[in-house]
Amino acid sequence: MRLNSLKDVFLEELKDAYDFEKQIVKALPKMIKKSSSSQLQSAFEEHLEQTKNQVVRLEKIFDSMGQTAKASKCEGLRGIIDEGDDLMGEDAEPTVRDAGIIAAAQKVEHYEIATYGTLATWAQELGMQDAVRLLNETLEEEKTADKKLTEIAKRGINVGAAQRRAAA
Ligand code: FE
Ligand code: ZN
Ligand code: FE
Repeated sequence: MRLNSLKDVFLEELKDAYDFEKQIVKALPKMIKKSSSSQLQSAFEEHLEQTKNQVVRLEKIFDSMGQTAKASKCEGLRGIIDEGDDLMGEDAEPTVRDAGIIAAAQKVEHYEIATYGTLATWAQELGMQDAVRLLNETLEEEKTADKKLTEIAKRGINVGAAQRRAAA
């Protein structure tokens, strides 16, 4: 499709987000299962619920534009999730694996933050106030999820993982 306007490229990026949020809904249960820290597990459980709601927010935006919600395969996030999957497949010390899972999850959050920042800015430019509000709600959730992962890592997991290396 030829992109003739900001609205066209907005819609393309919206389809990309719709796809990656669905990929994340599928990926999080495995990350929960593979995590050993209960703090990490509950952070992912909370973010899974938020992510399901983020899918709904995107559907509302499609709807407000008179469009059917449509996903276009997000190869970028697919790659990040695949790398995380490879890492989770490795034989690993539980705290060390947790540190790796956090790294993978933060790459996901940063990818999302980049996308939603752009989408919110474009929606503002397009005068779509409801979309701006919905996109900013999601953007804030992604930023909070990212910060929470940093805290969990710094508060204990990285220390534990570093000790494992020292003991080896
Ligand atoms: Fe998300
Ligand atoms: Zn993408
Ligand atoms: Fe997220």
